[in-house]
Amino acid sequence: MAVKVAFMQASDCWGCHQSLLNAHLGLLPVLPALDIVYWPAVVDFKHDSLKARPDGDILVGFLEGSMRTNEDVENAKLMRAKCQLIVGFGSCACYGNVHGLANEWDIEDVIKRKYEQTESITDESPHEPKEHMPGFTGKIVPLDEVISVDIFMAGCPPKPEAIISAVQFLLGQKPQPMADLSFCNDCSLNNENCLLEKYELCFGPITSIGCTLKCTDNGEPCVGCLGPAKTVSARAEKLKTMTQNMHQLSSGDKKNLHEFLTLFLNVPLMSGFDLAGDILKQVRKTGEAQTALANVPADTGDIYANLMKFLKNNREFIKISNVCDQCDLEIGSKSQMTKVKRDYEGLPNSTDCLIEQGYLCAGPITRAGCGGLCMRVNTPCSGCFGQTAWNVDQAERFADVVTKGFNVALSKEELLAQVKDKLGFMEKFTLATNKNYR
Ligand code: SF4
Ligand code: SF4
Ligand code: SF4
Repeated sequence: MAVKVAFMQASDCWGCHQSLLNAHLGLLPVLPALDIVYWPAVVDFKHDSLKARPDGDILVGFLEGSMRTNEDVENAKLMRAKCQLIVGFGSCACYGNVHGLANEWDIEDVIKRKYEQTESITDESPHEPKEHMPGFTGKIVPLDEVISVDIFMAGCPPKPEAIISAVQFLLGQKPQPMADLSFCNDCSLNNENCLLEKYELCFGPITSIGCTLKCTDNGEPCVGCLGPAKTVSARAEKLKTMTQNMHQLSSGDKKNLHEFLTLFLNVPLMSGFDLAGDILKQVRKTGEAQTALANVPADTGDIYANLMKFLKNNREFIKISNVCDQCDLEIGSKSQMTKVKRDYEGLPNSTDCLIEQGYLCAGPITRAGCGGLCMRVNTPCSGCFGQTAWNVDQAERFADVVTKGFNVALSKEELLAQVKDKLGFMEKFTLATNKNYR
């Protein structure tokens, strides 16, 4: 039976929905399983039809945008009443996003700037329109201060494959076990130098045999790209023990875990989800979705459960893993920051950390989950996935982290003195969430 889902937009550019549509044929595996009952960005559903539904009638509601207008707040409450699960869809819903920077000013000044002072206005007597207006909130607040949110999916916008994967995950559409044996049986390190024995997170014991790449031949751990095996190797026990205690992960292990979650579970950027509760249990209650990985061997299920517990109950991974953990550029490189450069100054090389080349990159203070997208095109991270610590002075924290852990010839004070717009850089996506600032 298809599950009912609804999509709603609040104040934003609607880019998250564009990102979903950009999935094109990637939508095919999920569309037949969905009964889309409200999606005004794409289909002419009537608002009254949503209001008329019984409370809790819809399984999952995707809510995009920040709470800028009174209408946004009303619609968020309406969605909460009608949907069993709410996904805060994109960084506007999660953190307020760039619009949140408007919180630096009173709403009267923002309205005046928008309707009377903007340079492109051509009216002879510009003024705030009064008819058909939704009414503005005094300050932008994150969605979860208006309603409770079950899953936060950050990104500006989230990647299409991450959105599809979220839907698949919620529907319980998980990969099926493939080969009979696990990769350990074909691993050149099985007899000696096994990576797991050296306490490196390697997922060979639960991954299907049959790949030709064989990462372990190069000393790299297996990250599970062939999906689950029908039987596990004897080393699964060791992996299970390691996943019971994940608090001391090295940066390399964090990278492996991100890749594993993407490849093995077929959930790209799974680690980018911020799960506010046991969402699968909630979905199971409805009887409309299967439990995740129901058909895998028990040990694989236990390892998976350990990882999920680590990810959702404690949100540990989100706190400890930042964008640098997913970035291929080298920290401790031959480059050294001697002055802060603006993004348009010079051309960065594609091997050294951008900070060490002089650019302000928010990677060290930004939650991992995007896969290091911007650095792949030589652009510094500007922080759209949100921070790894909240309600602190992000500029101070950034300067602390950078002067201690990177090849930087500036003192903390010298570095901060060269950042022209500290709030605009460090809180570009998240100012609305910073309680201290409010
Ligand atoms: S755990 Fe990893 S390194 Fe060890 S034998 Fe299995 S695949 Fe090879
Ligand atoms: S600071 Fe930026 S460029 Fe440097 S490693 Fe971290 S994410 Fe990559
Ligand atoms: S690198 Fe930073 S700005 Fe770019 S997508 Fe990732 S979190 Fe967002």
